[in-house]
Amino acid sequence: MKLKKAFVFSADLSALAGLCSGANLLAESSAALVLGSKAQAEELLPKADKVIWLGEKDKSAIVESYTGAIQQAIQKDEPQLLLMSGSTRDRCIAAKLAIRLNAGVITDAAGLTVTEEGKIQVRRNVYGGAAEAVLEGESALTIVLVPGGLFEDLPAAQPGVLEEAVAAPEDMGVTLVSVAAKQEEAVNIVAAKRVIGVGRGLGSQENLAAVEALGAKLGAEIGCTRPIAEEEHWLARNRYIGVSGVSIRPNLYMALGVSGQIQHMVGVSDAKLIVAINKDAKAPIFQNCDIGLVADMNKVLPQLTELF
Ligand SMILES: Cc1cc2nc3c(=O)[nH]c(=O)nc-3n(C[C@H](O)[C@H](O)[C@H](O)COP(=O)(O)OP(=O)(O)OC[C@H]3O[C@@H](n4cnc5c(N)ncnc54)[C@H](O)[C@@H]3O)c2cc1C
Repeated sequence: MKLKKAFVFSADLSALAGLCSGANLLAESSAALVLGSKAQAEELLPKADKVIWLGEKDKSAIVESYTGAIQQAIQKDEPQLLLMSGSTRDRCIAAKLAIRLNAGVITDAAGLTVTEEGKIQVRRNVYGGAAEAVLEGESALTIVLVPGGLFEDLPAAQPGVLEEAVAAPEDMGVTLVSVAAKQEEAVNIVAAKRVIGVGRGLGSQENLAAVEALGAKLGAEIGCTRPIAEEEHWLARNRYIGVSGVSIRPNLYMALGVSGQIQHMVGVSDAKLIVAINKDAKAPIFQNCDIGLVADMNKVLPQLTELF
């Protein structure tokens, strides 16, 4: 069963193609709302049945000022589903839309289906990943926030039509004065196809060099457990994986010196292949991996790198 119409919106334009794939999967017709340049809107035409161009964002307006424009587009077409990314900006807009449109909002979706009765059903991890809840959208419109990578960015399918609905920002009582990049290194472990995750078994920051060498060989990004980022500060916070960090869906996740506590593992539960190296044969990670090696990671890393 499919829904009639699904819309997608994200303040992060790079999330739109993946969201469109989700909308196409779940609904008979899809539409993407684009706040950006006209060229950026046109780029999405192969991905959705319709692209609604909301115009370029006013440089002194915060993106939430366009909630009214999104609201109008939704009221005109009445989709049953609005897919958004899980970013902070999208969460703010989703909350505003929910109030204005009397819509239900479901965050952190781990999976989405449409039931035989045509209801939107969302799987979601709860209790730090120890259990899974299934929620059903009950309102005419359900807004679902999904993490990056939940839907593969599928190849172009349909040539969509472009609709212009250029809108001025609403007055939110806030002026955007300036935007500066965070002083954190740019890293996108969410989109990486291969990720090496290091835990406390690393022993010291100096040992990271050997992990990076293996990462370079494998073309893998380096992630970590929370203590490595929050307590030891050996890697940046945007690299830690788990319930309070990021969730990843790589083809390969290699856990080195990671004990495998649930709060970490929930962030890698969608990895296709999990390889673990831990010197303790009783470490919980060995209950949760496809290939396990009981070994001192720092001793085997140079050999592994050479082998690859
Ligand atoms: C509310 C809450 C939220 C949390 N959120 C997160 C989260 O989002 N992400 C997260 O990661 N954690 C999170 N945690 C922490 C989590 O519970 C674990 O404490 C943490 O994941 C453990 O990190 P670790 O595996 O690096 O360290 P440890 O548990 O200390 O494990 C280190 C492992 O390394 C092995 N080891 C030691 N030396 C070597 C060696 N030389 N070679 C090979 N193996 C070796 C040990 O046998 C051990 O299994 C959260 C905790 C709470 C309470």
